[in-house]
Amino acid sequence: MTTHITFHESLRILIREKLASGGLARNGMHGVSGGPGKGQICVACGITIGESQFVMEGIGSGEHRKALQFHTVCFSIWDSERKVFRRSQASRQRTRTSDHLTR
Ligand SMILES: [Zn+2]
Repeated sequence: MTTHITFHESLRILIREKLASGGLARNGMHGVSGGPGKGQICVACGITIGESQFVMEGIGSGEHRKALQFHTVCFSIWDSERKVFRRSQASRQRTRTSDHLTR
């Protein structure tokens, strides 16, 4: 149980760092589909997606305009973390604007 939580938390931290550094797409993917793994490398955790696992695949946008493959668990963490990231970016911009207005 404990290792399970730790694994997910470390995965979340890794994905959050990759989002911040631009190593992972911050926008959603097009044409997302799922299927059995074929030994692809997960773009989030860098671990091979084995044949016994399920892969989520889609096409990114901008600089990440290519086929991106995720483990289903990595995909769901990435999808929620990128929304958190975009929200934090937006609120930072709002803060800057209101700073400017008060001066
Ligand atoms: Zn993964």
